[in-house]
Amino acid sequence: MLINWHQLRKNIQLNGQHFINGKSCDSHDGSTISKKSPIDGSWLLDFARGKKSDIDSAVDAADNAFQIWSNLQPSKRKELLLNFANIIEQNKEELALLETIDMGKPVQESLSVDLNATINCFRYYAEAIDKIYGEVAPTANNSFAYIVREPVGVVGVIVPWNYPLIMTAWKLAPALAVGNTVVVKPSERSPLTAIKLAKLASEAGIPDGVINVVCGYGHEAGEALALHDRVRVLGFTGSVAVGKKILAYSSQSNLKHVYNELGGKSAVLVFNDYHDLDNIARGICGSMFYNQGQSCNAPSRVLVSEDIADELIQLLVQKTKQFKVGDPFSADKVLGAVVDEKHMNHILSYIESGYKDGAKCLIGGKQINQESGGYYLEPAIFDHVTMDMKIAQEEIFGPVLSVIRFKTEEEAIKLANSTEFGLQAGIWSNDINRVHRVARKLQAGTVHVNQYDGDNITVPFGGVKQSGNGRDKSLHALDKYSELKTIWIQID
Ligand code: NAD
Repeated sequence: MLINWHQLRKNIQLNGQHFINGKSCDSHDGSTISKKSPIDGSWLLDFARGKKSDIDSAVDAADNAFQIWSNLQPSKRKELLLNFANIIEQNKEELALLETIDMGKPVQESLSVDLNATINCFRYYAEAIDKIYGEVAPTANNSFAYIVREPVGVVGVIVPWNYPLIMTAWKLAPALAVGNTVVVKPSERSPLTAIKLAKLASEAGIPDGVINVVCGYGHEAGEALALHDRVRVLGFTGSVAVGKKILAYSSQSNLKHVYNELGGKSAVLVFNDYHDLDNIARGICGSMFYNQGQSCNAPSRVLVSEDIADELIQLLVQKTKQFKVGDPFSADKVLGAVVDEKHMNHILSYIESGYKDGAKCLIGGKQINQESGGYYLEPAIFDHVTMDMKIAQEEIFGPVLSVIRFKTEEEAIKLANSTEFGLQAGIWSNDINRVHRVARKLQAGTVHVNQYDGDNITVPFGGVKQSGNGRDKSLHALDKYSELKTIWIQID
């Protein structure tokens, strides 16, 4: 069935209130933040600007609900979380629409990627929770020791704007599954789907106070949440700069456990022994420019063996020309708008610095569709980039790809590891020995081989070095939101 997104867009009512203790509400002081559409620059809505007192109310609600939620049988929590996933599925189109309205990505992607990943994530953790057992320790016969997994209490979740729903689900679902209650602070650039999600949880029968959403700025609502003494774990996804502050807030307050999922500057290493350069170019461009280049794991540095560099670059340019940029509600558009004007100017400033540092821009790098009023950028490729340039070291978080040439395998590994980031990496090679050798030497949380972006809920996602310390997804994520308790019994 063909969906008329423009029509749906016209009819949708936007809600920008907090969701605390099962109810939508304004901020205590009534203040709001005005948000513009990334798609056409028009005013979208004024949404609630939460501050410390709003966070206090949400933490109180979560704290009260903890007794009820954590004492439910795991099978009951599973049933409620499965209900929740089903209700998200029934509201899939509205949520996809809200995601696109908020941050500008093509609506077909919101629907097929973001919504499916979100639903699947809730189902995965719902199904996991009544299948995980405690442990019995191998003690002497006159004692009995067992180890149980317990929820921590109130969990704080602070997320960015690039995948608002998926980032929220990756933290919310495992935290709820083990019995915690949660206060979510969505990005001030994209609050709409988190608000809707919390309302749907209520419809699914999840008790009041189990999921609370407080909108607002990072330095107000975010800081208050991260400093709160009754928040026991904080799951954070965002920039390195804010991740550092989050660690400081923990030490200034109650030493809450902090899990940081931060930025990246991922490299793909293209060796001259792979048989299909066209496939490589398609893979790299697809992953790099997906979501307008606003992905933490985007392969923004291509390290290529110098003897095949010219040929690969030609193919990269050819593939990049095929990306159609424009109205994210239109079915034939592959790239939509970037999140807002400020972020667009931030990306353009990196493009400027690439020129200034002597890199050569082969394609793109300009704002287009200005007449729409929205924020659209042509995907760009820079050649002759060196690792001392800003565009090679810093996370741009936009559709800008840098190409760097290497002579030897050792040099390629050294270049790949020469940033402070360590989120993901890729290798293209047909030499099985080289693949294993290089994969073990790359400093990254995930190494992709002969593809990029291979992923599902069963594998951990996170980085090393300044890309963070946490791991979202997979059963490992449950460890972040639970404590192990040992109970040792003397037998007479
Ligand atoms: P950001 O760090 O500016 O903001 C992230 C969140 O933190 C927002 O909700 C913001 O309001 C909040 N915040 C800001 N200042 C705060 C403060 N002082 N105290 C508490 N909270 C505060 O990042 P962003 O621009 O929203 O997102 C882009 C970044 O997120 C990129 O660096 C990207 O790589 C990273 N990211 C990482 C992953 C991952 O899994 N590793 C996934 C997606 C995005």
